[in-house]
Amino acid sequence: MKIVDILKKEELSLSFEVFPPKKEANFESVKHATEEIAQLKPAFMSVTYGAGGGTSAYTVEIARNIKQGYGVPALAHLTCVSSTKETVRERIQAMQAAGIENVMALRGDLQPGMENEDRSTWDYRYAAELVRELRESGGDFCIGGACYPEVHPESANQKEDIAHLKAKVEAGCDFLTTQMFFDNDLLYNFLYKIREAGIMVPVVAGIMPITNAKQVERAIHLSGSHMPQRFKSLVDKFGNDPAAMRQAGIAYATDQIIDLFANNVTNVHVYTMNKPDVARQIQQNLSDILGK
Ligand code: FAD
Repeated sequence: MKIVDILKKEELSLSFEVFPPKKEANFESVKHATEEIAQLKPAFMSVTYGAGGGTSAYTVEIARNIKQGYGVPALAHLTCVSSTKETVRERIQAMQAAGIENVMALRGDLQPGMENEDRSTWDYRYAAELVRELRESGGDFCIGGACYPEVHPESANQKEDIAHLKAKVEAGCDFLTTQMFFDNDLLYNFLYKIREAGIMVPVVAGIMPITNAKQVERAIHLSGSHMPQRFKSLVDKFGNDPAAMRQAGIAYATDQIIDLFANNVTNVHVYTMNKPDVARQIQQNLSDILGK
């Protein structure tokens, strides 16, 4: 099933992100966690892709298992910036062979030192080029792209970032998923601006439940997201008490999701960090709301 068809139904729904193992030794435990999450029957599940490409086979394998074993539509991520055309084409073929219909087309983060390289020699500089490659591959893919309510860190300003986003959507994205954010007003403002710029594809809101204090710094480092005072107070108060922090973090994410649903954002993607208990708890908190 194509994800864009799920999104067009405009029913309040949750989807979950998982990541593949970095090493073969962890494959079985990660697979087991993704299967537990799949048993919750989310609207769809996404499987991330290591920027260096080392986990490409695991991404496809886990996505295929979720789809075939549990009937949950799967979205396989693919990055391009460190890859050659030949490698990317091989990976697209592997996805087709595994029956993957939905692909999240990403550039990937630049590795240290890449900022200063001559980019004209690269096979891929931007995600839009991967979107085009997927469209031209002959595969009937539903394609997603990433977007940044708080502006991508490499962009000079939001206007420029939204202009690039528009070009990426015009290259063939069917939908967008946002970077995590902790203040819903930032998303509402962003949605207003992209719609005004003529970007009309469905947007899935990405929510990261922060369930331990260590995750906070990592999340800010990775995403550059603004932490509202309401959230900072919660970490200050409960950060040293794991059980209390977990409960408070899940409650904060649930509250964010309810506010999004109430404001007509119908699809929320939860960054589960491969934690079935967190995914389950959030889903339970919304049991009478989902599907409306
Ligand atoms: P792009 O859309 O190419 O944008 C990157 C930057 O280039 C932006 O600043 C943009 O404004 C600018 N730009 C775009 N086009 C042009 C142009 N023509 N000229 C000049 N500037 C331009 N990373 C992984 O490694 N694996 C994953 O699985 C993964 N999943 C993700 C899922 C989501 C929902 C999100 C939000 C991010 C994910 N990432 C993942 C991280 C992502 O790879 C990084 O944020 C990366 O830095 C940018 O990727 P992108 O696809 O948004 O790039």
